[in-house]
Amino acid sequence: MAPAGKQASLSTLIFHRVLPEPDPLFPGEMHARQFDAVCGWLKSWLNVLPLDQAVTLLKAGKLPARAACITFDDGYADNHDVAMPILRRHGLPATFFIATGFLDGGRMWNDTIIESVRDCEKATLDLTELGLGRQVFGTVADRRVAIDALIGQIKYRPVDERLEITEAIARLAGASVKPALMMSSEQVKAMHRSGMQIGAHTVSHPILMKLSDQQALVEIAQSKTHLEQLLGDSVGLFAYPNGRPNEDFNQATVELVRAAGFDAAVTTENGISRASDDIFRLRRFTPWDQSQWRFGGRLLSNLRRH
Ligand SMILES: [Zn+2]
Repeated sequence: MAPAGKQASLSTLIFHRVLPEPDPLFPGEMHARQFDAVCGWLKSWLNVLPLDQAVTLLKAGKLPARAACITFDDGYADNHDVAMPILRRHGLPATFFIATGFLDGGRMWNDTIIESVRDCEKATLDLTELGLGRQVFGTVADRRVAIDALIGQIKYRPVDERLEITEAIARLAGASVKPALMMSSEQVKAMHRSGMQIGAHTVSHPILMKLSDQQALVEIAQSKTHLEQLLGDSVGLFAYPNGRPNEDFNQATVELVRAAGFDAAVTTENGISRASDDIFRLRRFTPWDQSQWRFGGRLLSNLRRH
């Protein structure tokens, strides 16, 4: 189903976090033991390539059979601490897309919500003053429902408002300050030195389609120059925040990414990429199944989706 050459297809997998241990609040979230198993399956089934190399081979019609890439979005510290040692043990390359505004102690707004709800000692949290109703925290399942509802209601608001409202939720929840969840600059440099590829993912992870072209270009270009100065190397790959075509980015965004000097960009649209596809709209998907054969089945059904 995935031949070599001109008819070749590229499967690109997305990961975000790899937790050291399973999280009862997010039982489906990737953790070290599961990631180790996934890496073993990927290595035995697929030809895993660095993304820049895969893009070049894709355009030249020279991809090997069963070509695949591993990518991570956002820049979580566990990518350095947990995922990288596992990847290296399996000899697998990966690309890490970093939102540069959160390096060195920053935190993404959605994590502020997750950690506030996780830590809140109250059975109900009254967020009516923020227009977010009363959230019930009786059980782990309640907390999970509240997290999903809050994230859903806040995701598409302007960056400043999103930050303000999540800080207000943290304050009302009485949540303690958490250690940094995102990578430090030194950790990004260490990953790059270890042969992992670093790509850009904007500065503050906005929904690019919601910004003016001018603002979007600043977000796109600044993350590139920040990483290039940090690494002393060129950064040619970009991942659109949230990544869904015509909801999170559009053709105007694609042109801005091209104008900023990137070589290729990845989305979160499901499916595979072929030689005829726009390399600024590469598809990716998350195979989240816990069992080997379900995971493999999902890889196969993604190949059929093109
Ligand atoms: Zn992201």
